[in-house]
Amino acid sequence: MSDRLPGFSTLAVHAGAQPDPTTGARATPIYQTTSFVFNDADHAASLFGLQAFGNIYTRIGNPTNAVLEERVAALEGGTAALAVASGHAAQVVVLQQLMQPGDEFIAARKLYGGSINQFAHAFKSFGWNVVWADPDDVASFERAVTPRTKAIFIESIANPAGSITDIEAISTVARKAGVPLIVDNTLASPYLIRPIDHGADIVVHSLTKFLGGHGNSLGGIIVDAGTFDWSTGGKYPMLSEPRPEYHGIRLQETFGNFAFAIACRVLGLRDLGPALSPFNAFMILTGIETLPLRMQKHCDNAKAVAEFLAGHSAVSAVNYAGLASDKYNQLARKYAPKGAGAVFTFSLKGGYDAGVNLVSKLQLFSHLANVGDTRSLVIHPASTTHSQLDDAAKIKSGAGPDVVRLSVGIEDKEDLIADLEQALAA
Ligand SMILES: *Cc1c(COP(=O)(O)O)cnc(C)c1O
Repeated sequence: MSDRLPGFSTLAVHAGAQPDPTTGARATPIYQTTSFVFNDADHAASLFGLQAFGNIYTRIGNPTNAVLEERVAALEGGTAALAVASGHAAQVVVLQQLMQPGDEFIAARKLYGGSINQFAHAFKSFGWNVVWADPDDVASFERAVTPRTKAIFIESIANPAGSITDIEAISTVARKAGVPLIVDNTLASPYLIRPIDHGADIVVHSLTKFLGGHGNSLGGIIVDAGTFDWSTGGKYPMLSEPRPEYHGIRLQETFGNFAFAIACRVLGLRDLGPALSPFNAFMILTGIETLPLRMQKHCDNAKAVAEFLAGHSAVSAVNYAGLASDKYNQLARKYAPKGAGAVFTFSLKGGYDAGVNLVSKLQLFSHLANVGDTRSLVIHPASTTHSQLDDAAKIKSGAGPDVVRLSVGIEDKEDLIADLEQALAA
């Protein structure tokens, strides 16, 4: 064996997986079982007391899911990970370890629409208060910090326009405030951006998008960077204080630089319950094997489509960070040199009606509410995901009446451009 550290593509295929020791199966089997037999009574007791690692019940852990967890932790450069049922479940489980009723977290205003709803409305009923900041104005995060702030949440490549966030600058604010930086890395995937390399303490994903990559399975994951000291100032009692349900152990003291991942599993997943099906873990693992190939093709296609649109007479603006003229191009060159992702927006001179018309005329692009599929996708936010907002709020969130969002797939770029050409001419 050489002592070379494996590269990203090798990790995408192999990290966490071995041939099955009993059958020799080379692909990771789907361990479709709810529970696991204990060796003896002492073994059972030590598993329940967190004195030994092992399988108990699939709500808490499963061998197929464990391969997925190890693989994504390796790709992101974290110490450990926890797979859950969806991206939204990952966000709930992360914040449950950090927040007490009445606490605050600061979130970038430019986020996936579902996250805006979850933070502003659902979390309010837990007594968790979101304070919004502008990802293009780092000082707005600094101004939002109070003694009750427990975390900062941003997206690396942000919805809907694919803008690039200055992760390092915001991580400096988080460090100064003594709170962890959580980065939703869904639209970038670790192939384009590894937020931990830029100061993130926790990374979350919707595995539903580019990591799974085929539009067939929901999933989410939490990656612990192992960088944050949870004992400071008694701010994070779930991690620093004795846990009554585990014989009074303190998670940070016992588990060190993977204590956060353990807390998410043994306090979050165990008690809230959003477990990932082993079948979905298998589908997502299969998707991850080709992540580098797919992601590069997504980005190359997106750039070609963005360039085509920028030169079209019916188009008034294209927001793609991969274009040299784009406001985020400088940040894209720094954080995502291999490509600026595949999700972006553009505006039509014909406004709302032209947007509705375009989505109805496209044939190869599917009109639906998802991103990160092999297939190319399109949505007109003003008539769908953002239809509840008034016009001013739509414009502020980058979803004005004339805006169309694309998630560019891995088909032949000539076919995608031809489809847009016929739909824009119609
Ligand atoms: C889809 C998405 C989510 C939510 O993930 P689900 O798997 O749908 O729960 C969160 N963040 C981003 C950026 C997303 O695209």
